[in-house]
Amino acid sequence: MIPISINDFVKKYCKTNPNQNPEQLKKRLQEAVKDKKNGATCSNCGEAIWAVGSAIGYYSCFTCLTGDADSSGDYEIDEVCWF
Ligand SMILES: [Zn+2]
Repeated sequence: MIPISINDFVKKYCKTNPNQNPEQLKKRLQEAVKDKKNGATCSNCGEAIWAVGSAIGYYSCFTCLTGDADSSGDYEIDEVCWF
């Protein structure tokens, strides 16, 4: 995954999704990052959650959220990128 800070991701995401409230997204990202650090796992397969996808969608791992096993081109918050 491509490491990105919460602030940079919020900026990037809100540029392409103008309806998204940046403060709300930031809050959800911070929560997802905290939960991932605390060992939150995907309810479907037991893998570590994908913090970015869990903030935007629902708590799940990358593969279950996207149906794609290759995460090399997608972002993850830097502090939990290698969890
Ligand atoms: Zn999963």
